[in-house]
Amino acid sequence: MYDIAIIGAGINGCSVAYELTQKSKNVAVFDKDGVASGGSGAAGAFISPKFSKAGELKELIHDAFLYSMEYYEKNFPNFLIKTQLIHIAQDEKSSEILKAYKQTTPLKLKDIPFQTSQESISLDSGIVDAKGVCEAMIKDATFIKDEVVSLEFKDDVWLINGSCRAKKVVLSTGAYKMVLDEPYIKLRGVWGHRCDVKTTTKNEYSLHQFVSISPSCDGVLAIGATHNVHYHPDTATKPYDIDEGRVELLEKASKTLKLENVEVIKDYMGLRSGSFDYIPMVGRIVISKESLTLPERRLKTKKPNFEDYTYYKNLYMINGNGGYGFVLAPYLAKKLSDKILDKGRVEDRLSPARFFARWAKKL
Ligand SMILES: Cc1cc2nc3c(=O)[nH]c(=O)nc-3n(C[C@H](O)[C@H](O)[C@H](O)COP(=O)(O)OP(=O)(O)OC[C@H]3O[C@@H](n4cnc5c(N)ncnc54)[C@H](O)[C@@H]3O)c2cc1C
Repeated sequence: MYDIAIIGAGINGCSVAYELTQKSKNVAVFDKDGVASGGSGAAGAFISPKFSKAGELKELIHDAFLYSMEYYEKNFPNFLIKTQLIHIAQDEKSSEILKAYKQTTPLKLKDIPFQTSQESISLDSGIVDAKGVCEAMIKDATFIKDEVVSLEFKDDVWLINGSCRAKKVVLSTGAYKMVLDEPYIKLRGVWGHRCDVKTTTKNEYSLHQFVSISPSCDGVLAIGATHNVHYHPDTATKPYDIDEGRVELLEKASKTLKLENVEVIKDYMGLRSGSFDYIPMVGRIVISKESLTLPERRLKTKKPNFEDYTYYKNLYMINGNGGYGFVLAPYLAKKLSDKILDKGRVEDRLSPARFFARWAKKL
């Protein structure tokens, strides 16, 4: 029997597996398609703060940025490339936001090494090898390539696909259908495309404007974006047009960096998943059916007490990192694994219970 089974081997699941195996737990990681086969495998995996106006998400990503840069450097230095990040505003509105950001950020800013017509910002950052780091994170766990189709709690143990037993389970299934059906948990999948190209154009920076462009590595640049909010593989009537996607990516990249002698090496596509308030969902999962039996005044209150609700025993989730999965995952995985090991708590602002509270209030 495993101490913990993790379902989904993207950056979220792998980061949790790393924390728990570091604490000598016996961990199994399931994935239906392989390690980093979902959104994580498609990511450019830039480690960046969020250049936006004040807000909860900006603060969360700021803390996670500082944490994850140190984390990757300390634990996975072979999978981290440290780079100078240059973020250039796309238009007047984003120029204003960037100006305000620069005035208030505690981060150490760098000079921009070239002329830009738009407002821009630069700082030290990094890029991780998405698949490599996920594989390294789960090296002390048992990887099981299988789709989890059933989860059953019997005699105080979770039964996965009818045969594998685990004391605790973590769902980290990204934008895919959750193994568990709870009507208040909804995730938004946004389609992204990354294209690795060989080019004679040299670039030494992590460039972000209309798309993200990595520094050159052996003459190859990665160009990516999760920009396609209209396409979704589950609802689309025809397959995603890779050629059209490439053209769009290359056109957008060329507005920032003149690309010469371009040869496409490989395309990666995937969905990233975001929650409906953009804040990740980390922690225990409310059983809606049982929690709905609470007196109405406790369900309809403006200040819900999450401790009132009934939760699945020993079941947790981590999801909804949006476009910042590689920044947020190590930071959130630490919080979640402390919770799983009864050594800490996850703040209410991250708890999936907030969505139950909102959903129950509207019923
Ligand atoms: C093109 C693109 C570029 C991006 N660039 C960046 C970036 O530069 N920086 C950054 O920080 N983030 C970036 N992101 C976002 C980041 O990739 C995501 O936030 C992150 O990958 C989410 O990780 P995850 O583990 O939650 O989900 P995923 O990586 O999607 O992993 C979920 C896994 O669960 C598995 N699974 C699902 N259901 C089951 C089941 N029933 N049984 C077994 N396995 C199952 C899937 O096969 C999948 O491998 C980008 C995303 C895309 C698409």
